[in-house]
Amino acid sequence: MPEMPEAILQARDLVKHYPLTQGVVIRRTVGAVKAVDGVSFDLRRGETLGIVGESGCGKSTLAKLLVNLERPTAGEIRYRGEDVTRLSRRALKSVRRNIQMVFQDPYTSLNPRMTVGDIIGEPFDIHPEVAPKGDRRRRVRELLDVVGLNPEYINRYPHQFSGGQRQRIGIARGLALRPEIIVADEPVSALDVSVQAQVVNLMERLQDEFGLSYVVIAHDLSVVRHISDRVAVMYLGRVVETGTDEEIYDHPTHPYTQALLSAVPVPDPESRGGRERILLAGDVPSPADPPSGCRFRTRCWKADERCERETPPLAVPPAFRTAGGPVAHASACHYAEERLVTGAAAGPAEV
Ligand code: ADP
Ligand code: MG
Repeated sequence: MPEMPEAILQARDLVKHYPLTQGVVIRRTVGAVKAVDGVSFDLRRGETLGIVGESGCGKSTLAKLLVNLERPTAGEIRYRGEDVTRLSRRALKSVRRNIQMVFQDPYTSLNPRMTVGDIIGEPFDIHPEVAPKGDRRRRVRELLDVVGLNPEYINRYPHQFSGGQRQRIGIARGLALRPEIIVADEPVSALDVSVQAQVVNLMERLQDEFGLSYVVIAHDLSVVRHISDRVAVMYLGRVVETGTDEEIYDHPTHPYTQALLSAVPVPDPESRGGRERILLAGDVPSPADPPSGCRFRTRCWKADERCERETPPLAVPPAFRTAGGPVAHASACHYAEERLVTGAAAGPAEV
């Protein structure tokens, strides 16, 4: 068996709670929004980990934790084996250089008053050691070229570009410091469907060219499928299922993943493998007051009182244990294996 590449970034029981306050004059903390509430995963060198979940499940908060824009309430982020949540400011600066973020909305994340050259070159102000002053414009022109934009555009402003081109600018900026890891928070969700594939293709090409490791976040399973080696599905601040893209897309074991997948439009309904569309009951509960036990139970057709009482750990279902791939397909559901054993299509409400 080929040796597994090293885990370059590891999350261990990551938690981010935002205090929930009441009152204007006298502010009191009345609770906490549990935006991220116990997330663990490994990102291996050169691979792409897709993170998927509905709006509000904590994806952007997780992204900010990973690039050290936010400090976790608890848990560890290990970069090359070292816990970065405990580093001094100085040591953290060099870690930050190696883990860059690409933001969701290229319309709002680029300063409209700065030229493209200044936007892409701005990271050099914080890390002047990467590009000496006299060399910066050449570097920026090179970066424009690398992301498929004309280097002659260096003095233009963001409004002179299309959405897809602006996201290319955002990606060029993310590449400026030659990071090892890029965390991309819904990099194509603000773009027209027709240009989404171009940006995803660009990201794949850059990954090969620069040996990048990616965390790519999306609310849409179809976007992540194309680019991911492995996928983690999030619900209410937690990972509910993780596996290779084949495992997640062809053999989803968590009811939430099954429901998400059933909503993805497929060109040929036969290829859904007889799976019906699952409509989930109710809304996502508030992350300030998540359900006891399994957080998905209030919307799950399999839930019983055990799910109310016991929190299902993210575990490998017994039926999978012998299959023994190096990276486990794990599911946080007490009844994850059942569908495997019976092979029955899941879901009570069909369209
Ligand atoms: P996603 O990116 O998956 O849509 P977010 O990480 O943006 O989710 O948000 C997760 C939850 O945390 C939401 O309920 C959101 O309102 C809350 N949240 C995010 N940022 C903050 C903050 N700075 N202060 C308070 N609550 C926040
Ligand atoms: Mg978000």
